[in-house]
Amino acid sequence: MKQFDKSHDAYKEAVDLMPGGVNSPVRAFKSVGMSPIFMESGKGSKINDIDGNEYIDYVLSWGPLIHGHADDRVIEKLKETAGKGTSFGAPTLIENKLAQLVIDRVPSIEMVRMVNSGTEATMSALRVARGYTGRDKILKFEGNYHGHGDSLLIKAGSGVATLGLPDSPGVPASIAENTITVPYNDIESLRLAFANFGSEIAAVIVEPVSGNMGVVPPKDDFLQELRKITDDHGTVLIFDEVMTGFRVDYDCAQGFFGVTPDLTCLGKVIGGGLPVGAYGGKREIMEKVAPAGPIYQAGTLSGNPLAMIAGYETLKALTKESYAELNEKVDTLVAGFKQAAIDFEIPLYINRAGSMVGVFFTNEPVDNFESAKQSNLDYFAQYYRAMIEEGVFLPPSQFEGLFLSTAHTNEDIENTIKAIRNAFSALNK
Ligand code: PMP
Repeated sequence: MKQFDKSHDAYKEAVDLMPGGVNSPVRAFKSVGMSPIFMESGKGSKINDIDGNEYIDYVLSWGPLIHGHADDRVIEKLKETAGKGTSFGAPTLIENKLAQLVIDRVPSIEMVRMVNSGTEATMSALRVARGYTGRDKILKFEGNYHGHGDSLLIKAGSGVATLGLPDSPGVPASIAENTITVPYNDIESLRLAFANFGSEIAAVIVEPVSGNMGVVPPKDDFLQELRKITDDHGTVLIFDEVMTGFRVDYDCAQGFFGVTPDLTCLGKVIGGGLPVGAYGGKREIMEKVAPAGPIYQAGTLSGNPLAMIAGYETLKALTKESYAELNEKVDTLVAGFKQAAIDFEIPLYINRAGSMVGVFFTNEPVDNFESAKQSNLDYFAQYYRAMIEEGVFLPPSQFEGLFLSTAHTNEDIENTIKAIRNAFSALNK
């Protein structure tokens, strides 16, 4: 059995210092019946905790580390950049370079604004959509998570789903009433909402592949229909690609599915492990943002040189071949999961999109939040704890996906499949 004495001591100290002992709820490991594991270091696909345990890491800081931990190319440039000063509050050349790269890669983005987190990106994009259309209502999908902004923390996924807190106290009713929610992948409900409120809806915000109720890809022509309905009603279509951006494919989910939104939110991979978010889109809309236009949005540390260089080096190192290689590794991993489920008679349904994988303990298809909730949470918690013992670090929630990096080796995948087989064979049914 692994020892976690130091993590337990650190947690005891932390609960008096921070709410729940953590700075973000999903780190609490509550739903898998554990207490937090405190990490010390990482290199490539491996992460090490403060008790000296090593794991193959499929959390990757919840998505950003697409090249794994402490990638030499990123770290070298970070050191060089830090030596010249960490923040200036004035423009720097690296901001132009990252902006250009993002504009070149993301089909919908003609202009971009850097911020410091995914939450900031989605909050800002909503304000811009509201300012641009002069409308107040927005529409989101159940089980999609777009950060913790007031308008968006309604029937949300991720930690909110994990902790069973679908609607947070502190969000004023006057704000919540402007948010319409419909089930993901449900075009009929979407049509009904537009029939009732179409001319009042400023924006539809969607995860083009949902990664916050586990991984749930869009069904059939869901995204195409969404594009059509929003076009018909003069509604701004926002793709929240904070998780999918540069993760699902070279040119993001919108490139993969061939659907171009009006605005796109980015985060995670674009910061290469440093705090970054971004939103961008059509020039006509983005030129309404201050100081080019009247819609205000600002940030003391936005475009921070360390964050920009980490993002730039991360994206530069991602080629089309990187995604082909990542996909091959995911194929092997998914096949390993499926074979283990057959051999040990475990109900299992797997969704994947690029290097995002959602593992559900059910035999039924998972295509929205309701079906994701049918997964056997007891099985998930048992499997989770067994995988930790096996030295595999997974997101500690059924309602999150796991990620692969370019640093994961074939040997890592083989060892992970062995771990899955051990975990499944020991599952108490
Ligand atoms: N949107 C999506 C799709 C996300 O997955 C997340 C975070 N997991 C966010 C927004 C919020 O990003 P952040 O945690 O950086 O504020």
